[in-house]
Amino acid sequence: MNEEATAKLADITARIARAADTARRNPAEVTLIAVSKTRTADEIAPLVAAGQRDFGENRVQEAQGKWPALMDAHPNVRLHLIGQLQSNKAEDAVAMAHAIHGVDRPSLVTALAHAMDKIGKRPTCFIQVNLADEPQKGGCAVADLPSLLKEALQADLPIVGLMCVPPADLEPSPWFALLAKLARDYGLSGLSMGMSGDFESAVKIGSTHVRVGTALFGERA
Ligand SMILES: *Cc1c(COP(=O)(O)O)cnc(C)c1O
Repeated sequence: MNEEATAKLADITARIARAADTARRNPAEVTLIAVSKTRTADEIAPLVAAGQRDFGENRVQEAQGKWPALMDAHPNVRLHLIGQLQSNKAEDAVAMAHAIHGVDRPSLVTALAHAMDKIGKRPTCFIQVNLADEPQKGGCAVADLPSLLKEALQADLPIVGLMCVPPADLEPSPWFALLAKLARDYGLSGLSMGMSGDFESAVKIGSTHVRVGTALFGERA
């Protein structure tokens, strides 16, 4: 179990490094987020033991069930909340998270700003962009990005970059390139993009945060 986790982690880390080399990037610029949604604390522990520090969850309630104990035991573990976030979960999200990758609408900006003021902690934030205007997906429309970014900065949210989940059935690289261009246009250095099937393409195009679940943990039930 532990050996398997170590081997998978080493494999993904090596693939990230090779992709970064190809693009003449420093692999240290890329953070591997191990997406642990649906996984139990027992499945997560071997990865922590193997040295993995950044983990991603998409449901606040699920994260609250397993992460407090893991974080008590390993204070340097960092939790990233990825994907859609309900405004009424903003306070719990701010309390737990090192980073929030799903800022996508003005009401959430307001809720997060209130929560950060109240708790006195400011996790870094990524604005999620719905590049292909997919109705079932979170993220702001490309056209709404300038106004949302302005509101977020006025509300003192520490916005560090953009995040996307490209359409599942299309070649991802053009979407990654579009997100990278938008980030450059708006002077943001963070790019949260790339998942199990496409993280190497994402790294070649400039990803700073890849979110990898199944390639590390196996298929989800
Ligand atoms: C589940 C999830 C991932 C990880 O997906 P895998 O294909 O398992 O690597 C990445 N990002 C988001 C937003 C997710 O919800």
